[in-house]
Amino acid sequence: MNHEQSRALYDRALSVMPGGVNSSVRAIRPYPFFVQKGDGGHVVDADGNRYLDFVMGYGPLLLGHDIPEQVQSAVQRRASEGPMYGAPTEVEVELAEFVARHVPSVEMVRFVNSGTEATVSAVRLARGYTGRDKIVVMQGGYHGAQESTLVEGEGGDTHPSSPGIPESFAEHTLTVPFNDEEAAHTVFAKHGDDIAAVLTEPMLGNYGIVHPVEGYHETLRDLCDEHGSLLVFDEVITGFRVGGLQCAQGKFDIDPDLTTFGKIVGGGFPVGAIGGKSEIVEQFTPSGDVFQSGTFSGHPVTMAAGLETLRYAAENDVYDHVNGLGDRLRSGLQDILEDQAPEYTVVGTDSMFKVVFTRDAPDSFEGHCEAGCQQREECPRYEHCPKNAGDIKRAETERWERLFWPKMKEQGVFLTANQFESQFVCGAHTEEDIEEALEAYKEAI
Ligand SMILES: *Cc1c(COP(=O)(O)O)cnc(C)c1O
Repeated sequence: MNHEQSRALYDRALSVMPGGVNSSVRAIRPYPFFVQKGDGGHVVDADGNRYLDFVMGYGPLLLGHDIPEQVQSAVQRRASEGPMYGAPTEVEVELAEFVARHVPSVEMVRFVNSGTEATVSAVRLARGYTGRDKIVVMQGGYHGAQESTLVEGEGGDTHPSSPGIPESFAEHTLTVPFNDEEAAHTVFAKHGDDIAAVLTEPMLGNYGIVHPVEGYHETLRDLCDEHGSLLVFDEVITGFRVGGLQCAQGKFDIDPDLTTFGKIVGGGFPVGAIGGKSEIVEQFTPSGDVFQSGTFSGHPVTMAAGLETLRYAAENDVYDHVNGLGDRLRSGLQDILEDQAPEYTVVGTDSMFKVVFTRDAPDSFEGHCEAGCQQREECPRYEHCPKNAGDIKRAETERWERLFWPKMKEQGVFLTANQFESQFVCGAHTEEDIEEALEAYKEAI
């Protein structure tokens, strides 16, 4: 593969952009390929190389790169009528109605411009509503580039995970391992009266993909109820993907107080949203006192793209298609691992997938989760499969990144460039694409 153009572009980029990129995860070593254009389930780079794309923009693209006619014409019409106005438009109401109709816990929605902005606003809202400062987050959970959640450490002994964040932010953030009910009980026993909210992804979607163990979210729900804290589901990555239009909360049958959205709900354009019970969401200004505002919030082009994408998905059985391909891919990967690397674990559900390079194999595979780890206690892999961020961290992350990823890229398969970030099947992928991906995995593992 020739990468001359990408190399030259990265050379230029390094002079004018820190690290040569606008989002740190894109700075693949030694240098990223620059994308010229998307093409269905593929991307084409600046040198004309074509890759089967499972990165899908890191999550926002449900349909792939060719947006259907109805999405395209809605976007073009909006753009041609002037991109935005500083006054409300009908399409914002329509998308809010759509979200409220389909997501079980959501009665009202405030749109913002990124997942980060959504979680920042949700944390402020939870603090304003409860009059408390502390929040509980999961180790390895990701909620965007925000001060309150960029923390490391355990329990109440937390510190900012980046320079530039005052220690005082981390003081209010408590961390627990995902899937650890005892740790959740302990943190509430100690700090319960000060906890404004538990903020968690329904499954760890930015750290290997970790499925919840049975009863975990129910425990969080009960603890929040007992202590007057809010349960906030960060569905920025799972929203309108896992569980389809009802989102992961519908699939897992959990009723959070607040939900954050992003990625898919903007149809590939910058977006975020905070949804939840009216009584809480109405605490945002101007109906309430918790300040929230944004020049671009509810941007008509984004709203139109999000609405038409979700309508298209609903009317064309897109979820059946991508989830079916996801199952096929994950079970195919499972077969390959049984042969070639029984210690590794296939994770993911619906249209999300990843192979985690775990280090221990079970004695038997009989009756294991067929299409990705679902934390079934009766599965022979149960003791070995990753339950939290610590387990993912202990996997062979260097091998994944330095040997496996480049080998997949050489075969024309574009995966997220580290062990942690999720990968996605899209509406434009076909059975043949899945078979091709499996062949590549067979070679690279
Ligand atoms: C991507 C993501 C975010 C951040 O969204 P941005 O749009 O990148 O700011 C927050 N939470 C989760 C769960 C995410 O996957």
